Parts: sequence; structure tokens; C-alpha cells
Amino acid sequence: QAATRRQGVCVLGATGSIGTNTLDVISRHPDRFEVLALAGGRRVDELLAQCRQWRPRWAVMPGEAQASKLREAVRQAGLRTEVLSGEQAMCDIAAHPDVDIVMGAVVGAAGLPPCLAAARAGKRLLLANKEALVVGGALFMQAVREGGATLLPIDSEHSAIFQCLPEDPATWAGRIDHIVLTASGGPFRERDPATFGQITPDQACAHPNWVMGRKISVDSATMMNKALEVIEARWLFDLAPERIKVVIHPQSIIHSMVVCRDRSILAQLGTPDMRVPIAYGLSWPERIESGADLLDFTQLKSLTFDEPCARRYPGLGLAWHTLRAQDGSTCVLNAANEVAVEAFLQGRIRFDQIHAVNDATLSGVALSAVDAASVEALIALDARAREVARVHVARCDAPSVA
Ligand code: NAD
Ligand code: MG
Repeated sequence: QAATRRQGVCVLGATGSIGTNTLDVISRHPDRFEVLALAGGRRVDELLAQCRQWRPRWAVMPGEAQASKLREAVRQAGLRTEVLSGEQAMCDIAAHPDVDIVMGAVVGAAGLPPCLAAARAGKRLLLANKEALVVGGALFMQAVREGGATLLPIDSEHSAIFQCLPEDPATWAGRIDHIVLTASGGPFRERDPATFGQITPDQACAHPNWVMGRKISVDSATMMNKALEVIEARWLFDLAPERIKVVIHPQSIIHSMVVCRDRSILAQLGTPDMRVPIAYGLSWPERIESGADLLDFTQLKSLTFDEPCARRYPGLGLAWHTLRAQDGSTCVLNAANEVAVEAFLQGRIRFDQIHAVNDATLSGVALSAVDAASVEALIALDARAREVARVHVARCDAPSVA
């Protein structure tokens, strides 16, 4: 291994939960990986600290105003990092010839263009950004095939399924009867649904098993996260929607399961730590140290399973509904949900109104075949769905909680 060149890594969404976990794993393997590019960050100091530590060739911030501040700070720190800004710059670094591995860990549909650029450029693409597949799964998978990219799932459930399957995807269809995605049930698994209107953003973001960004934390509480993951699995593993099932498993020890044709069931287990799927994405088909704690079976009291209840998690069923509806429906659902979750986090709508906005937006956006015919069309559809969702947000009565 020592004689081979280090692999150049580009981390999109570097300052987030997945981004920092990725850098943590990379820090354990200085002989294998070299951080070439970092993108993301709302505050200049976040990305500046990462530039000091990693000395990347490029750093990209979403807006030019922040980028010019970072540029000045980088110069004063005596670093040679080139600071860029905007979506095109993210796409450029993700496709740069010196970059071997791209971690797609921007949150939301904003991650689609740079992930697509990495796919088209034939990179090893570690995909945490599930929204990219929800917006345009068919076109995304086509770009992966045509670009000759290696797509490796980072979402823990999809990494679990991937780890349970043989290396050659051509053999998957013959083996899989169905897959079972496990869901923790989130922080409100036992709370009376009649009180869901009083849930505050901080309560919704306090996940029992995982520390994550605020958007995915709210999605876990509504179980929209699992709906997005069902759609993600449909594309990653080329499965018909009816071959994807969900079970609640509050301990988050079994990360998901493959049920084979012969009814043998393969599961992947471990402590809930995103560094495990990240390390697997970085090293596949090899395995490297991740930093995660070892699961201690003697400390496990029990592993329990439950069926998700539609009254508690009304958004979950929208996964199968949108997968069977007109192409583009999953893009509309994702856009509505991003708008609704942001409005909830800003205190503009109640927790239980997130589903109401998603549902109303799905009914309110009329789709035709051209809406999902190209990536450009999907991005336009995403914008149109956001406008409709904003109208529904504005119609919601204001929340009664502070
Ligand atoms: P996060 O909010 O902690 O981080 C998001 C990152 O994206 C930040 O670096 C942020 O600055 C950057 N970003 C946001 N909008 C951007 C934009 N418009 N342009 C450029 N950069 C932007 O989120 P996270 O929890 O790390 O999740 C990232 C993705 O990974 C999401 O799609 C999420 O669903 C997925 N994921 C996360 C986890 C987890 O454990 N956190 C698990 C599975 C999947
Ligand atoms: Mg997940």
C-alpha cells in the first residue's frame, strides 16, 4: 500500500455532521487519503478552521460575500488554499481530474448538481446526500453508468444493504426477495400524536441514537427521512417499491436487512456511528479502521421491532405513493419537505403541519412527462414545487409554541 499514490478527496458539505465525520475517518489514514477540496459552511470561521487543519488546494463557500471574507482570512493565515464560491465551483472541484473520491454530504436538493458532476466525471462517489436521488433518481443513475462512476451509499441503512450483498450488482436481482430498512422511530415514537402540535424544533432535533444536522433530524422525527430512504433504495438497488419494507427498531443496532429468495436474512449490525459506513465508502472493497466503538453484545438488553403507525408517521406512505405516481413526484415531495422543515425550524409552522404542507403540495403541482425529462427540467420543477409549498406554509395558522 505504501508505494501507491494517496487518493485525493473532495468533501462537499465539509462542515456538517457527515463532513466532519468524514474528516475524522480520513485523519486516521494520512497515508491513504489527501484532502484536496472542502466545500460548505455558513460561517467563515468553520471553513477557515478546516483549511488551517487540512490545507486543501480549494475551499468553496456557497456565497461570494462569505468567500471573499474567507479568502482574506486564508491569506492572512499564510495558507495557499484557493477560495471559490457558488454552485459551479462546487461542480468544478467535484469533477477535477486530481480528485479521486467525492463525499456528497451537502444537505438537500442543493447537492444534486455537484454530485451529478462527480458522477459524470467517473469519480468514486460517496453519497450521503439522499435528496439527490430523490429529486432525480433515474437520471442520476444514468449519469453514474455513463460516467463510469462508482456509487457507494453512505446512508447507514443503504450501506448495510450494500454490505450484505455480493460485489457484483448483476447478481443482486436474482438474490433479493425484498429489503427491510430499519427506522429508530425518532424522538416521538411513544408521544401521544394528539400533542404533536406542541413539539418545538429543539425537541424534534434531539434524536435518541444519532447526532445529525437539523434537517435530517426533523425528517427522522416525522419519518420523512425513512420515506426518502425508501426512494433512495429504489434507485441504488434497482428495486420495485413493493420490495422495500420498513420496520421500527428503536435500538438502531441492526442497520438494515436483505431478505433473500430462499428466506435467509442477512443483517448488518454495529454501534450507531456514521464513521462505519463512511470508512466503508472510503476503503471499499477493503476495510479500514473507522474509530467507532465495538458493539458489546453483553450490554444489549434487547432488540425490538415494531410496525410504523400511519397516524404517528403519515409521511412514510408518501414514498410508495410518489414512486408509483407520475415521474417527478418524488422531486415535488422533496422540495415541499425542504420548505416545510425549514418553516418548522424557523417557528413558522407546527410540527404536524409539515405533513399537511407536503400532502397539499403533492396535490397542488400538476405534472407532465416533460417535467422529469432532464436534470434542468427537474431543477425547474423543484423551484415550482417550492413556490407552491411556500403558499401552503403561508396559509398555515401560526404555531402556538414559542
Ligand atoms: P448538516 O446540516 O450537518 O451539514 C450540511 C452541510 O452542507 C454543511 O457543511 C452545510 O454548510 C452544507 N450546505 C448546506 N447547504 C448548502 C448549499 N446550498 N451549498 C453548499 N453547501 C451547503 O447535514 P448532515 O447531517 O451532515 O447531512 C448531510 C446529508 O447527509 C443530508 O442529505 C442527510 O440526509 C445525509 N445523511 C446524514 C446522516 C447523519 O448522520 N448526519 C445520515 C445519513 C444521511
Ligand atoms: Mg439513514
